[in-house]
Amino acid sequence: MDAYWQNFIDGAWTDGGAGRAEVIDPATGAVLAAQAMADAADVDRAVQAAARVHASGVLTDLRPVERGRMVQAMGRYLLEHRDEVAEILTLEQGKPLWEARAEIAGAARYFEYYGNQAETLEGRSIPLGAGYVDFTQLEPYGVSAQIIPWNFPVEIAARSIAAGLAAGNACVVKTSELTPLSSACLARAAVAAGLPAGAVNILCGWGHEAGAALAAHPAINQMVFTGSVETGIAIARAAAGNVVPCVLELGGKSAAIVHEDADLDAFGADIRRGIFSNAGQVCSAMSRILVHESLYDEVVERAGTIARGLSVGPGIERTEPGHGMGPMVSEAQRDRAAAMVTAAERAGARAAAGGRVMNIPGAFLEPTVMADVAPDMAIARDEVFGPVLSVIPFRDEARAIAIANGTRYGLVAGVFTRDLDRATRAARGLRAGQVFVNEWFAGGVETPFGGYGRSGYGREKGREALLNYVQTKNVAIRTR
Ligand code: NAD
Repeated sequence: MDAYWQNFIDGAWTDGGAGRAEVIDPATGAVLAAQAMADAADVDRAVQAAARVHASGVLTDLRPVERGRMVQAMGRYLLEHRDEVAEILTLEQGKPLWEARAEIAGAARYFEYYGNQAETLEGRSIPLGAGYVDFTQLEPYGVSAQIIPWNFPVEIAARSIAAGLAAGNACVVKTSELTPLSSACLARAAVAAGLPAGAVNILCGWGHEAGAALAAHPAINQMVFTGSVETGIAIARAAAGNVVPCVLELGGKSAAIVHEDADLDAFGADIRRGIFSNAGQVCSAMSRILVHESLYDEVVERAGTIARGLSVGPGIERTEPGHGMGPMVSEAQRDRAAAMVTAAERAGARAAAGGRVMNIPGAFLEPTVMADVAPDMAIARDEVFGPVLSVIPFRDEARAIAIANGTRYGLVAGVFTRDLDRATRAARGLRAGQVFVNEWFAGGVETPFGGYGRSGYGREKGREALLNYVQTKNVAIRTR
C-alpha cells in the first residue's frame, strides 16, 4: 500500500490545496495511508478541465461506438486489476474481501453495460406536415459532477462515470473522505482506456469544502449525488443556484412483507444478504421485516440464528462468499448505529440478537435483530445504515402495505408470498422505486433504481439512468 495518494485532475496526479487526511482501516483503527485533499481551487481546475474537454468536442465528435469502446475498456481494466483493488477497498471500507471483489466486478459491469449503449442514444423524427423536417437529438450536458459516498465507493462512482461518459459528458468525481483510495483505479482505468486528459477527474476533499464547491460551481451542467437526505438537500440547493439538474439517490428504510405462505427456508438467504452484507451499510438494505403475526416468533428466531451465526471480524480475512461480516466503515458510524439500538431498547424494543459494540479493536457492531418493534418507533422509521434489522408483526395485507409506506423514504420494498395476486397488489400499493418479489436485491445494472419520497429523484442503473446524462435538442427545418 502506497503511503500517500494524490488526486487526478486534468490528466495529472496532484497534491491537494487542503493538505492531507489520514485514511483509517476500520477493522483495526490503524492508519492505512494519507490522501491529498482538494480545496475549492482544485475543484475549479478539475471543472475547467472537464469543460475544456467538452468544448473541444473530443468526446462528442467521436462516432459513439468509439466512445463506447473506451468506456468498455475501463471495465476491462477493473477486471484485470480486480484482486488488487478489492484488497484496497476492503482495507479502507471494511467489507469482506469477497464482497469487495463482487463490487469491482459490479463496477466493471457498468462500464460494459453503458459502453454497449453509447451508440443507442438516438433521437426521433417528428412529422410536421409538408415543408418541414423535424428531429430530436440527445446531447450530453457537458460537465457531469458526481459526489460519491463511502458504502460502495467504486461501484457507485463507476455507474455514474460509465453512463456519463457513454453519453459524451466529461466527469468530475468527488470521492468520500473515508474511502478515497480504491477510486484511484478509476483514474488509471481512464488512462488505460485512452480517454483524453480532463475527461475523468477523480478527487477527494472534505464534503463541506470540496463537495460544496463542486455542487455550487457555475460551470457544472449536471449533478449526481448518492448519500444522506440532508446532504442531498444541501447539494440540490447549491445546484439550483445555477439551474443545474440533479439526480439524488438518498437513503431508505426498506421493508420486506412476509406472508404466511412465504418460503421461509429461502428467505433466510434474503435476511443474510439483505441486512448483513456490507454490515448493513446499503441504501436499499432490508432494514425492516413486516411479518404475518402467525410467523412472527419463527421469523424472529430464524433471523436471530442467522445473526448469531455470522463470523464477524476483519474483512480481509473473509475471502469466501457468504463468509461473515466485517466492521462498519468508521467508529462514528458504528456508535451512531449502536446509539439507535440503545434508544430503541429504551422505547420498548428488544434485541433478539446482538445489539452491542464488540469489545475488540475496530468499528464492529454485532449483527442485530430487534423484536417488539412498533411501527412508530424511531428504529422502525429512521435509517440506521448498519447491521440492524427490525421485525414487526402485521395482521392483514392492507396494514402491512401501510406500515411499509409509513416512513419518509421510498427506495425499495419486497413481498414474499406464493400468491401472485397478493404479490401484484403489493407491487401496486408499495410506494417505492423498486419492488422485489420473493428475492431481495433481484435485478441488476439493467434495472432502474431510485427513490420515491425522500429517497430521492432521478434513476441510476438501467436505460433510465442513461437518459439523466443527456438533454433533448429539437431541430426543425423549413424545406422548400
Ligand atoms: P453524506 O451524505 O454526508 O456524504 C456523502 C458524500 O457527500 C461524501 O462524499 C461527502 O464528502 C459529501 N458531502 C458531505 N457534505 C457535503 C456538502 N455540504 N456538500 C457537498 N458534498 C458533501 O454521508 P455521511 O455523512 O458519510 O453518512 C451519513 C449518513 O448518510 C449515513 O449514516 C447514511 O444514513 C447515509 N448514507 C447513505 C448512503 C446511500 O447510499 N444512500 C451512502 C452513505 C451514507
